[in-house]
Amino acid sequence: MKSGAEGSELLSLIQSLYPNRDVIALHEPVFRGNEEKYLLDCLKTTLVSTIGPYVSEFEKHIANFTGSKFAIATMNGTSALHMALMLAGVERDDEVLTQGLTFVATANAISYCHAKPVFLDSDLSNLGLSLSALQIFLQENTEVRDNGFCYNKMTNRRIKACVPMHVFGHAVEIDAIAEICAKNNIELVEDAAEALGSYYKGRHLGTFGKIGIFSFNGNKIVTTGGGGMIITDDPALAKLAKHLTTTAKVPHSWNFSHDQVGYNYRLPNINAALGCAQMEKLGEFIRNKQETAAVYREFCLKKGFNFIDEPVHCRSNFWLCSLRLPDKASLEEFLEKANAQKIMARPLWNLMSELPAFKGCQNDGLKNAKYLRDRVVSLPSGVR
Ligand SMILES: *Cc1c(COP(=O)(O)O)cnc(C)c1O
Repeated sequence: MKSGAEGSELLSLIQSLYPNRDVIALHEPVFRGNEEKYLLDCLKTTLVSTIGPYVSEFEKHIANFTGSKFAIATMNGTSALHMALMLAGVERDDEVLTQGLTFVATANAISYCHAKPVFLDSDLSNLGLSLSALQIFLQENTEVRDNGFCYNKMTNRRIKACVPMHVFGHAVEIDAIAEICAKNNIELVEDAAEALGSYYKGRHLGTFGKIGIFSFNGNKIVTTGGGGMIITDDPALAKLAKHLTTTAKVPHSWNFSHDQVGYNYRLPNINAALGCAQMEKLGEFIRNKQETAAVYREFCLKKGFNFIDEPVHCRSNFWLCSLRLPDKASLEEFLEKANAQKIMARPLWNLMSELPAFKGCQNDGLKNAKYLRDRVVSLPSGVR
C-alpha cells in the first residue's frame, strides 16, 4: 500500500460486511440452529459429561460429512493431534516433519510424544507445507535403512511421521505428499484443524493419510466450545483411539480396570450437543463464507491486493480469508490501523523455529515461510 488509501477502503469494506459491532472479531461463532435445544436437553437429562448420546451422534456427523469410516471425539484439537501421533507410532526421540509456519499446537503435540519436530518451508500459494521443500529435505537429508524406516542422516533419528497443516482451510498438495510419505515409510497425519468443509480433488481433507484431526475451538468453522476429532479408516486404530482417550478402561459394568496408561481426552456430551447443532448448519456456513471470500476476492482484484485464493484442485472452506501485502511495513501499518478501529485483522503465526521451546530443532531455512509471515494478514471471516 503506497498511500494507505486502499487499506482504508478495505477497512470500510470490512465494516460494511460486519455492521453494527463494537469489535469486529476475526472469527466469531453463530448459534442460529438447535444449539439451545440440545444444550437444554443435556441439562434436563443430567448427561453433561463423558457419557451421553450426543458424543456418538457428533462422531457420526463428522464421519458422514468427511467420508471417513471412523471418527473419535476428543476434548480439543491438540489432544486429537497428540493421540493421532501416538497412534501413528511416534515414539521418544523420533523426528516428525512439519511446517515452520503453523499454529503452535502442531509442534506441541509432537513434543508431547517426546519426539522432535523438523520444520520445513511453506508453499507460497497454499501457505501450507511445501511439496518441493519436503522432496528436497528427504532427498538431501534422509535414507531408508534396512529395517524399512526413514532416517535423518545428520541426527541418526528415525523420521516416523509427517504432519502437514492445511492453513485457513486451503489444501496443501496432499496427494503428492501422501505419495512420497508412503514411499519413504513415513506416516501421514493431517492437521486439518482449520479445514472442516475443505476438499482436494473432491476428497475431504484429513482423509489422505492414516489419521486426520479437526478442532472445534470457539474460532473454528464449527465449534463445540472446545473440542476435537480424530478421523481414520482403520478399524483397529479407531478402537485404540477410543480406548486411549477414555482412560484405557477395560469395559466392565462396575470394575475400574485399565490396561495401560490412558488419557482423559473424551469430549463431554454437552460440548458434543453443541457440535451436533453446528453440524446441521455446516453447509450453510461454508456457502456463507465462500460468499464472503468472493467479496474480498473481487475487492482485491480491483484494488491490486493479492488475495490468498483456493489453490488448484482445492475447494476451500475459507475458514479465514487473507491477503498478501507487498512488504512488512505495509503489514504493520495495516495491522495498526485495523486494530485501532477495533477490526481484528491478524498476522500469521511466529515461526515455530523462533519460539523458545523449538529453538534447537532442525529447519530448512524457511525462506517462503519468512516471506509469508512478513506479509500475510487475515481478515474478519466469520459467518455473517
Ligand atoms: C485450532 C488448531 C489446532 C487445535 O486447537 P485446539 O484449540 O486444541 O482445538 C491445531 N492445529 C491448528 C493448525 C489449529 O488451527
